[in-house]
Amino acid sequence: MKTGIKRRKAQVDRADCVACGCCVKVCPVQAIEIVRGVTARVNQDKCVGCGRCAAECPASVIQIREVGA
Ligand code: SF4
Ligand code: SF4
Repeated sequence: MKTGIKRRKAQVDRADCVACGCCVKVCPVQAIEIVRGVTARVNQDKCVGCGRCAAECPASVIQIREVGA
């Protein structure tokens, strides 16, 4: 049964990520990794939706979205 609770999660537009690693450094729960040196990937299970990565991303390719629980 769905609870209707919404959670905030970071999502990366991988096509425009420049793999600078800034988001990796600021994430407090180590939810982001750079995959194959070309793009950032968010572990949705770890992400707590704090928004730090989105604030730091120089390419503005991270968005915080509400997702269903
Ligand atoms: S800060 Fe932005 S551009 Fe840099 S690796 Fe993270 S998502 Fe990609
Ligand atoms: S929103 Fe916060 S917890 Fe989630 S990936 Fe970004 S910095 Fe990490």
